[in-house]
This record gives sequence, C-alpha cells and structure tokens, in this order.
Amino acid sequence: MNNNIHRLEKEKLINQKGVAIWFTGLSGSGKTTIGVALEKELYTRGLLTQLLDGDIIREGINRNLGFSDEDRKENIRRIAEVTKLFVNCGVVTMCCFVSPTEEIRNVAKTIIGEKDFIEVFVNTSLEICEQRDVKGLYAKARRGEIKDFTGIGAPYEIPLHPFIEIKTNEMNVDECVKMIIEKIISRIK
Ligand code: ADP
Repeated sequence: MNNNIHRLEKEKLINQKGVAIWFTGLSGSGKTTIGVALEKELYTRGLLTQLLDGDIIREGINRNLGFSDEDRKENIRRIAEVTKLFVNCGVVTMCCFVSPTEEIRNVAKTIIGEKDFIEVFVNTSLEICEQRDVKGLYAKARRGEIKDFTGIGAPYEIPLHPFIEIKTNEMNVDECVKMIIEKIISRIK
C-alpha cells in the first residue's frame, strides 16, 4: 500500500478540481491575453491557477529546444507533462500555445488525459492577427526572416471539435472570459 497523498485529497484541500485549459490559435490571436484575464477572474473567485505560455516555457524548461519538427514535438511533450503535474495538484492550468496541428494537440491531450483536457480554439483570422502583429513576427515572416511561421510558411489546422470556440472579432476580452467561465466552472468547482 502506498501512503502518497492522492489527487482527490489535494483537490479537497483547496476546494477545487484540476483541469487543463488548452488555448490553441494563431500567433496574436489572443491566447495569452485571454488566459491572463481568465486567471485574474478565477483568482478573484478564490481559485488557484497557473498559466503557461511560449515565453515562460521557451525561456525556462525548454530553452534548449528550437523549431525543428522534432523540437516542436518535444516542446509540447514537456509542456503537457508539466501541465499534468499541476492538474494532479488540483490547479486550473492555462496553456497558451499555437499548437498548430491535430497531431500535436492530440499528443498533449493523450499525456494530460482526455477528461482533464479542455480545448479552447481562439479563432482569429490570419488577416486580423497580421494587422495586430503584436510582436512584429508576421512582418518578419513575410520578409522571409522566419521560416515555417504558422499561418505564413506553415499551416494551422483548424481544431475539429474544440470544447469552446472564441471569435475575438465578435467579443472583447471580458466577454471571452465570461463565456469560458460559464462553460467550465462546473468542471472546477
Ligand atoms: P497570442 O498569445 O495568441 O499570441 P496575444 O494575447 O499575445 O496573442 O495578443 C493578442 C492581441 O490581440 C493583444 O494585443 C490583445 O490586446 C488583442 N486583442 C484584441 N481583441 C482581443 C480579444 N477579444 N481577445 C484577445 N485579444 C484581443
């Protein structure tokens, strides 16, 4: 018999259930902006969260990885394994990654576990993302300075069955957060 403290006990301790909210969408679609706003709202409701996004991960645990096919897969594998640890502690974990293919999203879903994986498709058109060009990456990609940039030199596969789809051209950030909370709150409390 092992004496480990189990997930259910941890969840009881913090009075919430762990889940992964996996945001997928083009660069600049709004994943991190919505994730940060969602985290603030959940915090004010007394819920414990952790946000993971490309900048945090690629500067830390994955700083030895590049953008080859193999490295992209390893990037997602590690992110999903880290997410699973948080979820197993009962933490609401927001993952904000382009994750452009079904294959890569399925790797994440399989590692995290289907019942704990909530896919949120941040559906913002390439045109709008390119107009926003938050980090100047689209301009660089158009100049050919970034090869295989999703939406320009590499495809983005539309998720087939996202749990939630968000159209950021129709809703402001607060409305997006409200919609997500309405759909997920029963999975957390
Ligand atoms: P991503 O994390 O998907 O790369 P970011 O969150 O970094 O995207 O950037 C999205 C940009 O779009 C931000 O500048 C944000 O202010 C803007 N934006 C405009 N409308 C929305 C909306 N409804 N939801 C999210 N972001 C929005």
